[in-house]
Amino acid sequence: MENREPILEVTRLSKHFKLEKRAVYKAVDQVSFQIFKGETFGLVGQSGSGKSTTGRMMIRLYDATDGEVSFNGKVISGKLSKEERRHLNKKMQMIFQDPYASLDPRMTVMDIIAEGIDYHGLAANPSKRAEKVYALLETVGLNREHANRYPHEFSGGQRQRIGIARALAVEPEFMILDEPISALDVSIQAQVINLLKKMQRELNLTYLFIAHDLAMVKYISSRVGVMHKGRLVELAETKELYANPLHPYTKSLLSAIPVPDPLKERARKRITYDPSIHKYDVEQPVWAEVTPGHWVLCSERELAQYRSDLALVASQTSKKGEQSGKSKEQ
Ligand code: ADP
Ligand code: MG
Repeated sequence: MENREPILEVTRLSKHFKLEKRAVYKAVDQVSFQIFKGETFGLVGQSGSGKSTTGRMMIRLYDATDGEVSFNGKVISGKLSKEERRHLNKKMQMIFQDPYASLDPRMTVMDIIAEGIDYHGLAANPSKRAEKVYALLETVGLNREHANRYPHEFSGGQRQRIGIARALAVEPEFMILDEPISALDVSIQAQVINLLKKMQRELNLTYLFIAHDLAMVKYISSRVGVMHKGRLVELAETKELYANPLHPYTKSLLSAIPVPDPLKERARKRITYDPSIHKYDVEQPVWAEVTPGHWVLCSERELAQYRSDLALVASQTSKKGEQSGKSKEQ
């Protein structure tokens, strides 16, 4: 990765919800990671693992119970002034999973998209405002005739495009895409993904891409973090995570992805994850960097095992390299 400057950093971030009888539910528990400028960071994990809650704390829809969020080097998880909130609202936007629930049904598309333009005073007069909205509609593959219509007149995919136009209207730097295509027909998922990728290239955006399976993030993310029950259990560059998964939960997620080759698909074994193998009641897990950039939540004993597993892989790979080198010489 060329540019390693972090745009966003979370440090031991936690969100605990109070349940009845003084019990607390740790929806997010001591999660730490960085997102670099211009990259797409994938956050995956099964439903209920705390992905949306993590995103909501970043954008201040939830206050953190503990830990810190920094954006462009400034802590944004504490108390913010009105001005700071306004600034953050412009720099950071979120696209939600449900394109039906996230647009106000009583507003026209024009007013939905222009909301941020108005709030931040980005258009000098009504005709400039309309021009901006028309341009945004065209950017996301809709057209100006759509501006006077209401959300119910659109399909799920079109609504998600309206949501994307609304987010882009304030010229953000960072976008949280919370399962942006999960609610859409398979036939239009790729179109929306391609639109998001195009926007990222053209506008130099940074994305946090939340998904519940690893198949989609492989295609779009440069690095991936895996969440399980509120904890981040593994983080690595996408290629590394797919080639050398270490945490048994990551292995189980990967084993759930169908492979296109029918022979390999028949041989594919599903791995189920049994958290009781860890014995964390006797040995507390730590967030450890196993090799540069590859992090795992593990005990000291597991860490030693993971390191020797990766060393073995590395020695096998270099042997293969030597052999193919020799065959070329002959
Ligand atoms: P994900 O996005 O990975 O599916 P969420 O972050 O939405 O998971 O939720 C994580 C857990 O926190 C879930 O068990 C959910 O029920 C719980 N949770 C989320 N929001 C609240 C809330 N406002 N009050 C109580 N529990 C919540
Ligand atoms: Mg969610």
